[in-house]
Amino acid sequence: MNFRRTALVATLSVVALTAAACGGGSDDTAAEPSVAEAPEFEAGTTMAEISEAGTMKIGTKFDQPGFGLENLEGDVEGFDVEVAKIIAGAMGIAPEDIEWVETPSAVREDYIEGGEVDMVVATYTINDKRKERISFAGPYYVAGQQIMVSSDNDAIDGPDALKSNPDAKVCSVTGSTPAEQIKSYLASPDQLTLFDEYSQCADSLRNGQVDAVTTDNVILLGFVAESDGDFKLVGEQFTEEPYGIGITKGDVAFCEFIHETLQENEDAYIEAWESTAGEVEGTETPELPEFAACA
Ligand code: GLU
Repeated sequence: MNFRRTALVATLSVVALTAAACGGGSDDTAAEPSVAEAPEFEAGTTMAEISEAGTMKIGTKFDQPGFGLENLEGDVEGFDVEVAKIIAGAMGIAPEDIEWVETPSAVREDYIEGGEVDMVVATYTINDKRKERISFAGPYYVAGQQIMVSSDNDAIDGPDALKSNPDAKVCSVTGSTPAEQIKSYLASPDQLTLFDEYSQCADSLRNGQVDAVTTDNVILLGFVAESDGDFKLVGEQFTEEPYGIGITKGDVAFCEFIHETLQENEDAYIEAWESTAGEVEGTETPELPEFAACA
């Protein structure tokens, strides 16, 4: 599956839950996030610029069930999308005024540096290498790398089995942390197949081009849930992947604003999880992690 890289203006079809915006609970449609009316910000800040513009561009994934997925109507949905809407709402930006930009793993720093997006919320692991080019708010979630195989595969039961099965091929995504981290588990570099997006890895697993897919557990669980029993996760998580919100390097005020917004909207954060990734079998509702200092 190849997804368009172009930006698209989301025409959101979420149902507005009126009075009891936080009350619903079991509804499987994400609640409409609260949108601040005429919020005020110090002149010159990113928040002031965005709220003045009345629109913002947000990078996310378009092919990852549970986190960022373009649906048949052309809308994007998932936990990252809902977290982004909470932050946008606090600047007075309604969901219909967000322009969603597809940001596959390898382009995220480029798009932030180039100003193609105001922020990236896209299963984006905070790490020092990326921090050389951009800053992160968060973490807002902590995932961990794992392995997915076909349900009838008993030979690969975790990352260590890749060395003892040197003919086995494992798929991941260019520019991602899992693609780097799996290398020390391989007998030879030829075992690693790289694509731009995880849906391409899932397609390759289905048609037998690869024997395993590796990335974060929660991304894989989304593909397992969609596979009709064809895929399974094996072995334990073997890394920690703290997800951050990518912003322009050094924008401390924006980072602190994002932290305050998430802290003040913890109920909406939980609701965001439960209506998206939380519906995927095998996931657990998180607590908002402790944030790192903004830099
Ligand atoms: N969290 C990892 C990363 O940021 C893997 C998921 C992804 O590629 O988006 O590289």
